[in-house]
Amino acid sequence: MEEEVKSKVIGVDISIERTTFAIVDIRGHILAEDSFVTSDYLDANEYVTALSEKLYMLMEANGGYEKIRSIGISAPSVSSVTGSITNAANLQWKGEIPLAALVRDRMGMAVAVGNDAHVSALGEYAYGSAHGLKDFMIVSLGVGVGSCFFTQGREHTGTDGFAGEFGHCCVVDDGRECGCGNKGCIESYVGANGIVRTAKDLMLESDEPSLMRDIEKLTPKVIFECCEKGDAMAIETYRRTGKVLGLGLANYASLINPQAIILTGGISHAGKFLMEPCREAFEKHVFPNMRGKVKIVISRMDNRERDVLGAATLAWEVPEYSLFK
Ligand SMILES: [Zn+2]
Repeated sequence: MEEEVKSKVIGVDISIERTTFAIVDIRGHILAEDSFVTSDYLDANEYVTALSEKLYMLMEANGGYEKIRSIGISAPSVSSVTGSITNAANLQWKGEIPLAALVRDRMGMAVAVGNDAHVSALGEYAYGSAHGLKDFMIVSLGVGVGSCFFTQGREHTGTDGFAGEFGHCCVVDDGRECGCGNKGCIESYVGANGIVRTAKDLMLESDEPSLMRDIEKLTPKVIFECCEKGDAMAIETYRRTGKVLGLGLANYASLINPQAIILTGGISHAGKFLMEPCREAFEKHVFPNMRGKVKIVISRMDNRERDVLGAATLAWEVPEYSLFK
């Protein structure tokens, strides 16, 4: 019997708001794609059951289950070593969830999992701004602040697969409380909730007028829109945010001496309001021999596309699964 080489994989991106999944071919083309709301499932087992059913339906509607080689999954706080999500700061499922094993058992297919920031880096490395680079860092700026770094063309995962917790490096002793349980983490200043908190702190600090005072639900995007209208307090909010980000990146860069730092995620689109103070703080704090040499760039890839493609890249790396091995 002639054995067929399977030329398609599944990439899954589990984000706090949405789960996106796609069939991806060997050239990185997305052949079919779908998504659903992650937070609709309060129980991790029910979530995995729903995900497995949706994956199966997508496969059957697009050439059949038996044509798919393996599955790659991107998730927050997941270890590529154990395959489990452990105490995800921003997900509704607490404790330890053996994600890779649960999906593998339901799908009967090899499953590789990767921390969301690591998977973003794989996507940028294969198809985006990091293509051709050997030493670089990816920092994702959203509700969470994740990161991953490559040295000599290889991803650094660490002993337990948790390397690159940039968002949870401490920048203020005894500072703001963070979702991880520590205090003064970068994420508590630069993450979406941190930015909103900075805006609220500024409004309390003075009686100065601001467009932000009339807005019921502040978000980083709304604050950015106020910046564009010339609102001084909104601009100050992003200036403080950029300053913390630049300082954190400078420490990180001094440690690994990268060619470039690539910023991804919604907050990276705040443009000059974030980037000018960020670059200024970066150059001020980075080790002098690296000053002026590290490029800080904003990713040009669509976030969801990058993460799904990164997850598909991961799927190719796992050996094909067989019950009879
Ligand atoms: Zn933290």
